[in-house]
Amino acid sequence: MPDASGAQTSPQEKRLTVLSGPSGVGKSTVVDAIRRDHPDVWLSVSVTTRAPRPGEREGVQYHFVSDTEFDRLVADDELLEWAEFAGNRYGTPRAPVRDRLSTGVPVLLEIELQGARQVRASMPDALHVFLAPPSWEELVRRLTGRGTESEEVVQRRLDAARIELAAEKEFDTTLVNTSVRDVCDELLALIRAPKA
Ligand code: ADP
Ligand code: 5GP
Repeated sequence: MPDASGAQTSPQEKRLTVLSGPSGVGKSTVVDAIRRDHPDVWLSVSVTTRAPRPGEREGVQYHFVSDTEFDRLVADDELLEWAEFAGNRYGTPRAPVRDRLSTGVPVLLEIELQGARQVRASMPDALHVFLAPPSWEELVRRLTGRGTESEEVVQRRLDAARIELAAEKEFDTTLVNTSVRDVCDELLALIRAPKA
């Protein structure tokens, strides 16, 4: 269907939502709840060079790939965005996102700040949501309490968290993760809202 400028647009095209926020704020917890309870929302599965944590499964939380395979995906331009974070690389496979959006399925990406900036540049229609902790102390508690990283990696993630928190104003809206359930409800409402 032509829009006001005469360009062809798909009447089915749905919204791309990007969820970002500092490590430990609860992004994976929120995304896991949406995966479990709301299968109508499609969650992009990123590729990463980091090792799986206990309980993580190939193809569910991530596609776990070697450095060589990640290099190939970058060289072949198969990633919508990618970034290095705390010693590992992460990226969003481009084709599945494009396919879901073009068939009218809402898409959610859970990515860090540098990747969110790349998406803003390449897909300006995306809605950017920042997940914030109730306080800095609570963020430290959650990140250390998770117990999945060494002290050194926790420190790198806290350093990155200061930078991510300072970028909150770049986002369209902020949700404070006090209650996972409330955040899920608020996020789902944003994902399902018609595009402006
Ligand atoms: P992220 O994906 O942002 O790095 P996680 O989802 O792994 O963060 O959450 C970090 C820790 O915080 C986990 O132990 C998780 O259970 C806990 N957590 C997440 N959301 C909340 C919340 N609303 N209240 C208390 N603890 C939370
Ligand atoms: P974790 O190792 O805790 O799963 O993820 C570390 C960081 O990488 C988190 O901020 C997470 O949102 C981000 N991340 C996960 N997948 C991607 C991705 O595909 N691209 C980018 N840029 N960041 C990602």
